[in-house]
Amino acid sequence: MTMRHALVLGGGFAGTLAAIVLAHHADTVMVVDRDRLDDAEAPRRGIPHGRHTHVLVSGGARALDKLLPGITDHLFSLGAQRIGLPGRYMATAAGGGWFPRHEGRQFIIGCSRALLEATVRERLLDHNNITFVSSADVVGLTGDPARVTGARIRDRATRTERTIEADLVIDSTGRSSRAPQWLVELGLPEVEEDVVDPQIFYVTRRYRAPDGAHNLPAINIMADPTRTDRVRGSGLLLPIENGTWSVTLSGTVGGHPPVEEAGFHDFAAGLPYPTIAELLDLAEPLGSPFGFKADANRRKHFDKLVPPGFLVLGDAAATFNPVYGHGLTVAARGAVALRDGLARARAEASQDIQRAIARASQDAWMMATSQDFRFPQTLGPRPESRDGLAQRFQERLGRSAMSRPAIADAQMAIFTLSTSPAEALMRPSVLLSALRGPDPAVKPLSEPPFTPDEREVLAQCR
Ligand SMILES: Cc1cc2nc3c(=O)[nH]c(=O)nc-3n(C[C@H](O)[C@H](O)[C@H](O)COP(=O)(O)OP(=O)(O)OC[C@H]3O[C@@H](n4cnc5c(N)ncnc54)[C@H](O)[C@@H]3O)c2cc1C
Repeated sequence: MTMRHALVLGGGFAGTLAAIVLAHHADTVMVVDRDRLDDAEAPRRGIPHGRHTHVLVSGGARALDKLLPGITDHLFSLGAQRIGLPGRYMATAAGGGWFPRHEGRQFIIGCSRALLEATVRERLLDHNNITFVSSADVVGLTGDPARVTGARIRDRATRTERTIEADLVIDSTGRSSRAPQWLVELGLPEVEEDVVDPQIFYVTRRYRAPDGAHNLPAINIMADPTRTDRVRGSGLLLPIENGTWSVTLSGTVGGHPPVEEAGFHDFAAGLPYPTIAELLDLAEPLGSPFGFKADANRRKHFDKLVPPGFLVLGDAAATFNPVYGHGLTVAARGAVALRDGLARARAEASQDIQRAIARASQDAWMMATSQDFRFPQTLGPRPESRDGLAQRFQERLGRSAMSRPAIADAQMAIFTLSTSPAEALMRPSVLLSALRGPDPAVKPLSEPPFTPDEREVLAQCR
């Protein structure tokens, strides 16, 4: 598909990837954002969530490498941490204790959102047909129900409005996207939306890791749906660049982590395991904690309705409970779908490409909503209860994961969006392990599985 001019609304993570993809298919590509994008190191007004912990799971890292070959190695060279073997370990606690240490194939990348975004944005410089309009709000689309022909933008300083014509417009303005209203203004019906709200509140604070502690594991304490008190919360201590830890606590109704300093620490100490609080005692805080009322899981069915000339990518199409760390990966997988779709599409193929973008978010949607529905406070239409056999299989998997590495590997492949749940769980080794059930010889660990070397480092820091 070749075009004269393509327009990308919003130059965040998804918009940047979209622009790079489009640069191969259009004579010129224009990116419009309400922020100034040349100062990626500073937290931007347009992405307040950018200050919070952002992991990139291995499924997303692979998608990003497909789009931008060598980008993850470049991130590592800039200080991003590879968490998962080979690399730094992630100690994970779930309801029954700590997972034993074992080598898996999946990983996550730990770095600040600012470093990730700046590194990806650098690749725009490889394309001299991409231009930017900064400090401008997108206020609407132009066209009619049969075709989108451009967008209306308003300069933030002068308040003057102008229209930009384009052969293809991509909306990547994120969670606050007004695309549904813009399409209604063109005469199209309301887009259908699914909403599943776990009512999560998020608080993040950065710390300088103590000297010598640079290789300590990441710590992931998962929420336990069987707990009814405030320890139902979760915590993640993620090593990022420059010897820094990004620490995020989250909780739900009646158990929000406090944004003030002492309360933040107390909440960490009150999680089912106090490991994060104990590590924070050794570290130096860098600034105050900041909070965020996380969005619901929200999926808009543009795939049923987009007219030719228009596509929606990233959070503008679907958002997820951030606890699972999947939004960036869904955006990267959506950009791969865009690339593949444009490579084989006719000019009028918007709906086919939008369907492929929707498929790229399907596993993340299933994972986030099925996990969230395990918690009673989650709002939204609950799926009909599954038949007893599937339910019992799920429960058995959950109980056996700690003592059966094949099941833990499958769960990690699903969590990192590396393999679809159906494929991961139907492997003979997983089915056999589930059949055997929990291994009675492997007792749940009540303490994180630190190595003797790591314990030595901790002892020296104290
Ligand atoms: C608290 C929190 C933590 C998260 N943690 C993780 C994580 O660990 N891992 C993960 O993978 N994902 C995480 N996510 C999700 C991730 O942040 C998003 O999926 C990702 O930012 C989506 O990128 P995007 O480009 O679609 O949207 P954004 O990054 O939000 O970018 C949207 C862009 O559009 C611009 N814009 C918006 N409206 C307009 C307008 N009207 N006119 C012009 N410009 C506009 C904004 O300035 C911005 O640049 C988290 C989200 C939250 C809220």
